[in-house]
Amino acid sequence: MTRVRTAHVIGGGIAGQVAAVALHRAGIEPTVYEAHATGADGVGAFLGLGLNGISALRTVDMDTAVLARGFASPRTVMLNGRGRVLADVPNGGTLPDGTHAITIRRTDLYAALRDEAERRGIPTRYGKRMTGARHTGSGVRADFADGSTAVADVLVGADGIRSTVRRLLDPAAPGASYVGFLNTGGYARGVDVVGPPGVNHFCFGRRAFFGWTKAPDGEVWWFANPPAAREPDPEELAAVPAPLWRARLLDLYADDRTPAADLVRATDDVFTGWITYDLPSVPTWHDGRTVIIGDAAHAVSPSAGQGAALAIEDAVVLAQCLRDLPDAPAALARYERLRRTRVERIRAQGRRNGSGKTAGPVGRAVRDLVLPTVMRHLFRDGRDPLRWMWDHHIDWDTRVTTPAPTAATR
Ligand SMILES: Cc1cc2nc3c(=O)[nH]c(=O)nc-3n(C[C@H](O)[C@H](O)[C@H](O)COP(=O)(O)OP(=O)(O)OC[C@H]3O[C@@H](n4cnc5c(N)ncnc54)[C@H](O)[C@@H]3O)c2cc1C
Repeated sequence: MTRVRTAHVIGGGIAGQVAAVALHRAGIEPTVYEAHATGADGVGAFLGLGLNGISALRTVDMDTAVLARGFASPRTVMLNGRGRVLADVPNGGTLPDGTHAITIRRTDLYAALRDEAERRGIPTRYGKRMTGARHTGSGVRADFADGSTAVADVLVGADGIRSTVRRLLDPAAPGASYVGFLNTGGYARGVDVVGPPGVNHFCFGRRAFFGWTKAPDGEVWWFANPPAAREPDPEELAAVPAPLWRARLLDLYADDRTPAADLVRATDDVFTGWITYDLPSVPTWHDGRTVIIGDAAHAVSPSAGQGAALAIEDAVVLAQCLRDLPDAPAALARYERLRRTRVERIRAQGRRNGSGKTAGPVGRAVRDLVLPTVMRHLFRDGRDPLRWMWDHHIDWDTRVTTPAPTAATR
């Protein structure tokens, strides 16, 4: 039995930087290897970070830096394309100190996490694309595209939805699966949308889903999900010029009685669109020395609003397991046991949320009729059907133990 002392963390995104800090706190020496020159900045626009993600960041003292760069998003309003409010519900509850879920630019989230890792002296090596890994007698050797290699006791694959580590663990592992719509968005100025800042507005437009949130400075952050029955070619999509995106969006939202078209018009730079994926269940998460976390293990549809939060939870739980269990194989097995059921449930929830975004005329009519009553019923008397998702807290000081064998496992 050998205690883990050193770790390679492959990927300097959300899961990677939080894992590095959590491992460091657990007494393990991490080194982060990031393929790109400066991390995953600029990938995507903004995201909602659920309370469970903030709570997990708090266990390793990374929440303050993140909260300072986002703004509170305490409520979610759902509308249809005629502008009729279908539901107005809390966006999760609050932490004991009153903290709400937040909305944050991805670049700011990545930068905050990276700064926190740097502040603790954790090295991130940029421009290091991992291409292969193999077990040595007592550890793992990682190979990089620049010809260099490095050895550590464990290798943590935090390398996102296109994970190389996942394929190394299991060449037959599933790849990303298209969820039926695209993503674009932007930051609009000078449009006076109703309501206080921070409220998420999610609109089932007649032809496409649209969301917006007013920031405290009056800028309106929006995203659009144009449906596309077949998965487009990523290169062709990336080549669509900005004016064409704008024209497509204006056409898609022309009939909606919501601020969607005004917001598109008031945006200087509409993001180049990207394709939306999740990941079917991945059977193999570890092999005793190598493990995957975050999107590498279980990318969920963005419709769940939980991918970043789950990546953060994974990182913290993995570090606890490596801190408390006697060796890497026991720790990695326990990490999977502690995480799999929860992430699979949230993945299924994300798929369900996403299917409502592309409903046909009949589905839309039924939704408009039924949703207000259903939501009122589900949220009656202060209840929240998604409480299990956001009201999830990890206690850093509780020791992780291996469960006693049951009759079935003895
Ligand atoms: C459109 C969209 C909207 C979303 N909205 C939300 C939301 O509202 N709320 C939410 O919680 N989540 C949301 N998500 C999901 C969230 O962004 C992801 O779940 C989260 O980024 C996962 O973090 P990660 O660290 O696992 O992966 P990533 O953030 O993708 O980081 C992976 C890192 O690994 C690096 N890498 C890859 N391969 C290698 C290699 N071979 N060697 C070295 N480095 C490598 C990459 O460069 C990258 O820096 C959204 C996602 C999308 C696409």
